[in-house]
Amino acid sequence: MDYLPIFLNVKGKSCLVVGGGEVSVRKASLMVQAGARVTVVSPELHPAYADMQNISHIAERYQVKHIEGHMLVVAATDDEAVNQAVSQDAKARNLPVNVVDNPELCTFIMPSILDRSPIVVAFSSGGASPVLIRMLRGKLETMIPQAYSRLAAFSAKFRMLIKDMIAVPEKRRIFWEEVFEGPIAEKIFADDVASAEKMLREKVERETRGEQKAIGEVFLVGAGPGDPDLLTFKALRLMQKADVVLYDNLVSAPIVDMTRRDAERIFVGKMRGNHTMPQENINKLLVRLAKEGKRVLRLKGGDPFIFGRGGEEIEELFENNIPFQVVPGITAASGVSTYAGIPLTHRDYSQACVFVTGHLKDNSMDLDWEMLARPKQTIVVYMGLQGLEMLSAKLIEHGLSPDTPAAIVQQGTRPQQKTVTGTLATLPGLPEINTLQAPTLIIIGGVVSLRGKLTWFKPDQQQ
Ligand code: SAH
Repeated sequence: MDYLPIFLNVKGKSCLVVGGGEVSVRKASLMVQAGARVTVVSPELHPAYADMQNISHIAERYQVKHIEGHMLVVAATDDEAVNQAVSQDAKARNLPVNVVDNPELCTFIMPSILDRSPIVVAFSSGGASPVLIRMLRGKLETMIPQAYSRLAAFSAKFRMLIKDMIAVPEKRRIFWEEVFEGPIAEKIFADDVASAEKMLREKVERETRGEQKAIGEVFLVGAGPGDPDLLTFKALRLMQKADVVLYDNLVSAPIVDMTRRDAERIFVGKMRGNHTMPQENINKLLVRLAKEGKRVLRLKGGDPFIFGRGGEEIEELFENNIPFQVVPGITAASGVSTYAGIPLTHRDYSQACVFVTGHLKDNSMDLDWEMLARPKQTIVVYMGLQGLEMLSAKLIEHGLSPDTPAAIVQQGTRPQQKTVTGTLATLPGLPEINTLQAPTLIIIGGVVSLRGKLTWFKPDQQQ
């Protein structure tokens, strides 16, 4: 950072502006808005000053005596020598000084601002790119409606009362978030402050009587196959709202990093020694945390309901009357195949697509081989790497051609994505197979031959 961003309290304080032109008017008026008393030193004064309060005018050329007794100095003349003198005199007295359009003479700069007082957002690129700053400011301008001023003022009015009535900080934070995101805020936006006040008082009374269900909520959110750009807006919104996050190996690190900064993060995946927290314990943990009043985010790779055991988790929540939301995610079959350049269906090659799990149980795979070995269909196998050899042999045995194209994709959509292609007969024996890192996805069918012909996909970085 090139500058330290601070907000200065200048209420009732004396500030000096040297120069009386248009630019000086802008600077002085900001200072006055922040409550300062401003002395303007300039032989002449812009007419706009006539309408301003808290301005005293010294109709002289700048001399060093003018600088005494102020807490802040701005030089806004078009005379380089005067600006330089003001800067020097201020620096000699350790007074913060800003010289308009001359960063070298400044000890502070005035940022571009978005004013929704009491909320003020300040922007600066330290002079690097004013245009970029203007664009950013424009974006935020549309995101922060004017009514946020009222909302913040409303919150200021009741802050102490709520603090007295709801002692636990965590509960207080949730209380205010509900206010800002719910019907009370809507009343403020509609400029019906009286109703908003009434609703707020009712809400806090319910809360203190313990009527408000202290129970939390669970968000079962699909995080997609790894690339954070594949998250849904809803996933992101809930990720930033949750107090606790439960995640496992399948959720990529950049995605975990996008959860709320101060949220507690609990890893429930494979630990050292390959011990995984049993599903039952995860279900119980979700229930316990929600009963403590927390908003719990259960982040799952891909889609929660596709080989994700999401169904079991909500069953437990349902039995315990815990409110929950489920957010679908892009499942591996869809995200990984697309990034690997393989369309799941194609008029000429495949009219159907089945998702199966190739998980081995007692060294065997319980799958409907007849159904899988049908022509013109794409088979996507989750969790299939260990059973690849058996999978391939069984499909050939049940009638699929040994020449059927097949691919295996490691860590699809992530920087480590790697695709190995072959046929049903050759794929299991390829030497690269032994170097693959989980998670991997197997895709079988004519569509695999389209890889390479189609150019939209993200090339593997390691090939
Ligand atoms: N609910 C998840 C699947 C969980 S099962 C989903 O909808 O995607 C776990 C399996 O998903 C892994 O063994 C692997 O086969 C597959 N998988 C998930 N993410 C993957 C990725 N980024 N690349 C390759 N395979 C992935």
